[in-house]
Amino acid sequence: MIHDAAAPRSASAPPRGRGVYCNRTLNLRSLRAIGYDMDYTLVDYRVDAFERIVYAQALERLGQEGWPVAGLAFDPQMAARGLVIDTELGNLVKANRFGFVKRAMHGTRMLDFSEQREAYAQTLVDLSEPRWVFLNTLFSLSEGCLYAQAVDLLDGGALPRPFEYASLYRHVRARVDAQHLEGTLKAEIGAAPERYVVLDPEAALALLDQKAAGKKLLLITNSEWSFTAKMMAYAYDRFLPGDMTWRQLFDLVIVSARKPAFFTERAPFFQVATEDGLLRPLTGPLEPGHAYLGGCAAQVERDLGISGDEILYVGDHMFGDVHVSKRSLSWRTALVLRELEAEVAALEAFQDIERILGEKMKRKESMEAALSQARLALLRRRGGYGPAPTETPAELDAALQDLRSRLVALDAEIAPLAKAATELTNPRWGLLTRAGNDKSHLVRQVERYADVYTSRVSNFLHATPFAYFRSPRGSLPHDPSAPGGPPLEHGGEA
Ligand code: IMP
Ligand code: MG
Repeated sequence: MIHDAAAPRSASAPPRGRGVYCNRTLNLRSLRAIGYDMDYTLVDYRVDAFERIVYAQALERLGQEGWPVAGLAFDPQMAARGLVIDTELGNLVKANRFGFVKRAMHGTRMLDFSEQREAYAQTLVDLSEPRWVFLNTLFSLSEGCLYAQAVDLLDGGALPRPFEYASLYRHVRARVDAQHLEGTLKAEIGAAPERYVVLDPEAALALLDQKAAGKKLLLITNSEWSFTAKMMAYAYDRFLPGDMTWRQLFDLVIVSARKPAFFTERAPFFQVATEDGLLRPLTGPLEPGHAYLGGCAAQVERDLGISGDEILYVGDHMFGDVHVSKRSLSWRTALVLRELEAEVAALEAFQDIERILGEKMKRKESMEAALSQARLALLRRRGGYGPAPTETPAELDAALQDLRSRLVALDAEIAPLAKAATELTNPRWGLLTRAGNDKSHLVRQVERYADVYTSRVSNFLHATPFAYFRSPRGSLPHDPSAPGGPPLEHGGEA
C-alpha cells in the first residue's frame, strides 16, 4: 500500500531543498552498509517543542540554585546551528569559512560593527582551541539561548555566586547535559511522542528500498535502549508492511553508543537480551538481528567484514556523527541538516531581490573602478609623470565628485537590500550556510567532512539506492563563468 502511494512521488524530481547535495562523489551502489543515527536523523523532532522543555527543565534547576530566572523564556531564534560560543568573552559569534567573525552577540545584545572589530579583528575562530564551542546540532539551541541569557545575568550582577564567562558556560552546559541524562525529559517525550516527533512516512520506504537492494542497515545511536525502542516504534512501525517492526529493518541496532568515542576507542559490546533492556556481555561476534549497547566501530567493521569506504553513516551531529567517523575511520558520510529546507525556500523567495542586488553591486564595482582610474589620472597629472590624460585637472576633479556622489546614492539603495539578505531565516544570524557574502564556518565543516548533505533521510527515497552522486565542478574566483563575470572594462562608468 505504501509502495503504491509513494511510487509516483519517488519517480518525480524531489521538491526544492530536498535533494541530496554532494561534496564528494558517492556511488550508493558500491556501499555494503548504511548506518543511521536516530535523534534528528531517523527520528525528526519539533525543535521548538523539544528544546523548550530541555531549556525549561535546566532553567528550573538554575532557579533552585538561586538564579533570578523568573523573566526568562526560550527563544528558538536566539542561537542557531553552526554558531560558535566564545567562552572567553561571553559571546555568541558567527564566523565565515576562514574563521573571521562576521557577527557577534554579547549576552543577548548584538555587537555593532566597531565593537565587533575591537573584539575580533586580531582573533580567528579556531575550533581546536577550548575557548570556542561549536553548536553542532539542533540539541544545541537551548544551550546557546540559556548561555546568552546567563551572560546578561552575570553582567547585571544578578547571579548568587561569582563566575567567569568560561566557568559560567561550563555551569550552563552541565545543567543542560543533566536534562538529557536524567529520566524526566525522555519520560515526558516518550509519554507524548505526538507532541515532539515529526512523522515522515517516506523515511520507512527509503529504508525498505535500501534493505531490498542488499544494503546492511545499522542503527547507531547515543540514546538509551528504552527511549530508542519507543521512538523507533512510534516513528516507523506504522509505515511498515504487515507485522514488520522497526527491529526487522536493521541488521544491527546499537544504543548508548557514546559517539564520538564509539568511532575512536575500543569498548566492549553488551547484548540487549530482552525488550525491557536486560543486558548480557557479548563474548562472540556481533550477530545480525540483535540489539547491542556500547561497543565500538572497529568491531562493527570486523564482524561485518566491511571497510570504511563501504559504509555510509548518516547523522545530524556535525562533530560526533560526521567529522569523527570520516576523520578516524574514513567512513562515507551524510549530514542531515533539517534547516536546509527553510534555507532553500528563503533563498528562492529572495531571488528577485538578489538579482537586483547583484546588478547594483556590479554597477558599484564598475563605478569604483572608474573612480580609481580618475584618481590615478589626477595623481599622475599633478606629479607630472606617466601617460598624459586627455582631461584637464578640473575635468578630472569634476568627474571624481560626480562619481563620489553617485556612489553614495547607490550605497543608500544597496544597504537595505544587503541587510535583508543577511537576515534571511533569522534576523540576528541570517542563513546557516552564509556568513556575509561568503560561506559560513558550518559550510566549511560540511565541505570537509560530509560527502553528501541533505535535509532528511527520506530524501534518499527520491534518489533510489542506486544513485551515483557526483560532486559539482566547483567554481573559482578566476573562472570566466564565476559570478561577477568577466573583468571590468577600465573607466566603463566614467
Ligand atoms: P543520537 O543523535 O541518536 O546519537 O542521540 C542523541 C542523544 O544524545 C539523545 O538521547 C539526546 O538526548 C542526547 N543528547 C543530546 N544533547 C546532549 C547533551 O548535551 N548531553 C547529553 N546527552 C545529549
Ligand atoms: Mg542525532
